[in-house]
Formats: sequence, structure tokens, C-alpha cells
Amino acid sequence: STSEEVLPIVVIGHVDHGKSTLIGRLLFDTGSVPEGKAEELARAAAAEGMPFEHAFLLDSLLEEQAQNVTIDTTEIRFRTKKRRYAIIDAPGHKEFLKNMLSGAARAHAAVLVVDAQEGVREQTRRHAMLLPILGIQHIIVAVNKMDLVDFSEGRYREIAGALAALFQELGLPEPTSLPLSARNGENIVQPSVQMPWHIGGPLLEALDSVPSPPGLDALPLRFAVQDVYRRGTERLIAGRVETGTLRVGDDLLFWPGRKRARLRSFAEWPTETTPTEASAGRSTALILEEEIFVERGMIGSSLEKTPIEAREFPAKIFWLGPDPLRVGENYELRLVTQSVGARVMEVDRVIDAETLSVQDSCKPGVEANEIAEVLVRTQQPLALDNASEIAQTGRFILAREGRILGGGIVLGARYPRASLP
Ligand code: GDP
Repeated sequence: STSEEVLPIVVIGHVDHGKSTLIGRLLFDTGSVPEGKAEELARAAAAEGMPFEHAFLLDSLLEEQAQNVTIDTTEIRFRTKKRRYAIIDAPGHKEFLKNMLSGAARAHAAVLVVDAQEGVREQTRRHAMLLPILGIQHIIVAVNKMDLVDFSEGRYREIAGALAALFQELGLPEPTSLPLSARNGENIVQPSVQMPWHIGGPLLEALDSVPSPPGLDALPLRFAVQDVYRRGTERLIAGRVETGTLRVGDDLLFWPGRKRARLRSFAEWPTETTPTEASAGRSTALILEEEIFVERGMIGSSLEKTPIEAREFPAKIFWLGPDPLRVGENYELRLVTQSVGARVMEVDRVIDAETLSVQDSCKPGVEANEIAEVLVRTQQPLALDNASEIAQTGRFILAREGRILGGGIVLGARYPRASLP
């Protein structure tokens, strides 16, 4: 139901453009800060002769969360009349890219903060380029610090225009943009009287108009196998329904290898709660009618909407480094629960995030912070999807010795012609 919905978002942009202040403001103006917290922080700041900053609210929340963090991502929540939001990252959080690339964190929308005085800077460009790789589809450009440019409509148009041009250059859809002042709370929750020329609503309204993500249940079935073990005479195939829905009696194919079997039942504990149906997000175990070969890493699908089985596919990657990615070198590729040796065979296009220059010629590698279109070859066949079709099985990371070096999305791989075994 709508009231239960939580939309994950990220706030991104160049350092000092006002991300923390904006988050603090959002929390404060939506009443998401515990009673007395703002006053307490204001007193603490005054005692040190400092003016109160809304960014303090965020810092203090993060500090409290840090006492009992169990996962790598921070989650800060606020709500509107329409739904709840989770800001899934804090500015400057170093693990952000790794979490996003590995799928540990997912965001549906991003607020890209741009300083009205400084305009587009290096990180503004880099973050914009990363959005499609991270699977973020909706972008709101927040032109911040409008108080520093006398709430000038002309200056706002200039910056919004530059962003629109950048997005077009990057092949991204045109962003929604709006002017605001995070520090003064202008155009965050209420329309700003300082900027009557702005006809679109405030930031909260822009967030509320982001369409809800389509249900993962509605996508084709992808069951990621985590483990296979025996319980008495039964063999249990434990895993997670990444997308789609699985019902007792369904005919399934397991990939790679295209092994066919029928789902006899689910096995869960306690047994009274064992379902007859499992939908996206559910971890469960399957008991199959047939003793086919299944192991960790395989993907279950329906007979019709199957994944692609491939050892070679085109991809767009983002390289974190520290060392450059080298063509022909071995890396470990992880895609859902699959883990295989992989090499990049060709680097087709490299985009430098700082200059946005594109090199079309074949390069011997990809440097840290570069985005590249490449051809990947794996040692064993993989089951995958194009990220544009099913993001859950269309994204992968490249690692070495347990360390994430980069991540990417599968682009333009070919689906097999549907045929029954
Ligand atoms: P971040 O690095 O992007 O998280 O930026 P911060 O939120 O820490 O803000 C950087 C500086 O810009 C701080 O000194 C803020 O007080 C200031 N700042 C943020 N928003 C505004 C604004 O709307 N107007 C003005 N004048 N200053 C702002």
C-alpha cells in the first residue's frame, strides 16, 4: 500500500554545494528530527560561538546511527503526506559507490545539488555520468544557495540550462530542476516568496511526483540459488526471488545449463508458515520434483521469459581502481550469486569524468574514475539480463581478492529466441 512505501533516494553533487545542509533541512522541515534536537544542537553551537547549521542535524543523526550500525549503508528517513523516503547515503560516505555498484544499496531517485554561484563542477559531472550505471532513473537538479545570487531568475536559468545541456550530452533524460536555498529553507517544503518567478513546486513536491518504482513482482522470474543442501531425503535449493513470482507447480529452468524441473513445494521453518507462492524479495528454499543438477550461482526462470546465457557480453563499467583495469587481465566477476573469472577483451569507449572527453580509439585499459564501454569474457557461462530489462540480474561487480575494483551493467546482450526444451 502507498503508506508503507519507502522510496530510496540519494543526495549527490560537488563537495560544499550544500548536500548535508539540504538533508538537514529536509529532516527539520518535515518534522523528522526528534523533539528538542534542533534546540539542543543550537545551544551546543552557541556555546562554541558558532551559528547553528542544519547540517548539524544530519551529523548528529549519523553519529547516533553509528553506535548501532549493522550494515554498511546509512539510512535516514523522512516522510511526506504521500510516502516515506530513505536517504540511503550520507554525503562523503566513502563506501557509497561500492554499495551502489554491488547492489547493497539501491536508489530510485537522486537529488543533484549544484551551487548557484559555482555552477557545474567536476563532481557534478561525474555524479551525473554515474547515475545510469547505478540504475538511478529519476533526477532532480537542485540549484542551491540561491540566496547568494539574490534569488536571480537569470542565474538560475543559466545553471539549469547548463545542466540540461550536460544531461543531453550524456544521453540522460531531461532532469526536473528547481531553485532553492537549503540554508534559508526556501523552496524545500513551502514555495519560496523570494522566488515567485519559479512556477514549479518546492523540492518535496518534485520528490512526490517521482513515479513509484514498478513492482519487482511484475518482472520475469529470477530465482538466485545461494545454496543446495539435504534435509533427510529431501534436497533443498535455498535462494532468493530477485524478481517475479514463483508458485508451487511452476515449471522452471535453471541457468546456465537450462535444466528443467517442476517446483513441488517450498521448504521453510517453521513449516506452518511455508508458502505456496513466493514473490520478489523473499528468501526461501525449493524442493523440486526432478533431481536435476543445481548449484550455487544458478538462476531459476520460467520456461518463457529466460535470461541470457553468455560467456561474452558488452557492458558499461565504472572503474574505482586504485590500479587501472587492464585488458586481458583476470578479475572475479560477481553477478547476483554467480562468481566467475572474467577478462575485459576490448575497451571501446572511455569517458573521462573530469573533462567529459570521449576516447573512441582502443585503449589498453581503464583508469580509476573512468567510465568505459567494454567487452567482457568470462571463464564459465553466466546467466544474465540486460540491465535495462532486469537490473537485478543486469549488474555486476569486478573484484580481486575480495576487494571491489569496479562495477558495471550489461548492455545490449542478445536474448535467445524463446523455445521450449
Ligand atoms: P556538502 O559538502 O555538499 O554536504 O555541503 P554542506 O552542506 O556542508 O555546505 C557547505 C557550505 O555551504 C556550508 O558552509 C553551508 O552552510 C553552506 N550552504 C549550504 N546551503 C546553503 C545555502 O542555501 N545558502 C548559503 N548561503 N550557504 C549554504
